Amino acid sequence: MKVHHLNCATFRPPLVAGGLVAHCLLVETDQGLVLVDTGFGMNEMTNPKATIDPLSRKLLKPVLDINETAISQVERRGYTADDVRHVLLTHLDLDHAGGLRDFPKATVHVLDSELEAASDPRNVKERARYPKAQREGVTFRTYEAEGEDWFGFRAVRDVAGLPDDILLVPLVGHTRGHTGIAVKGDDGWMLHAGDAYFYRGEVETPPSTTFPLKLTARQTETIREQRLSNVERLRELKAGGEVEVFCAHDPVELARLA
Ligand SMILES: [Zn+2]
Repeated sequence: MKVHHLNCATFRPPLVAGGLVAHCLLVETDQGLVLVDTGFGMNEMTNPKATIDPLSRKLLKPVLDINETAISQVERRGYTADDVRHVLLTHLDLDHAGGLRDFPKATVHVLDSELEAASDPRNVKERARYPKAQREGVTFRTYEAEGEDWFGFRAVRDVAGLPDDILLVPLVGHTRGHTGIAVKGDDGWMLHAGDAYFYRGEVETPPSTTFPLKLTARQTETIREQRLSNVERLRELKAGGEVEVFCAHDPVELARLA
């Protein structure tokens, strides 16, 4: 399968040198186009105040460029919105689910615990991170966070309508139903780890971090112990050398793969 690495939103948070990206994947399969995460879509780029809360606008400082939306990038490749049949989401945070409404024919695959968190938020933090408008009219298909072994992780192999080389690899912690998405491309397996970590050094050996991104990870986490143990497991997976591991927001990882 041919896999394209896209940036579907750019952020300039005040303390983060080099900024952040929204690393998404566009996969060409026999079942049509598949997107992994959607960054910000047309709605966020043209009318940010409707879905992005004031605090997120202030902290993330998004660069609002419609050319970065997944739909613009799909169309520039000669496809239409309707060619995108499936979207897999690492989670439903507003900077990952923004483009859903741009793909009305797509089935959106998420963990059941994530859709539940978004539909029934437990606190102010969850209410802000999952703007309801982003999910209006969207067709979801949900999965339990369990499955068969995949490089020592439990993975959901039977994602409805998709080949078995696209898997959900639950990495709960950042949110209640956060998951990685594994894809076997022409060069082997890769794992989009979403917001399981924010800085590439976190999964390198020996690990390193930066203060602003360590703080970001803590401020946005839901279950700390699970988040930290997942970072350890991802570091081991990366060290094993068989899987290309990357997160959603690191611009250096994206530049290496794009
Ligand atoms: Zn994010």
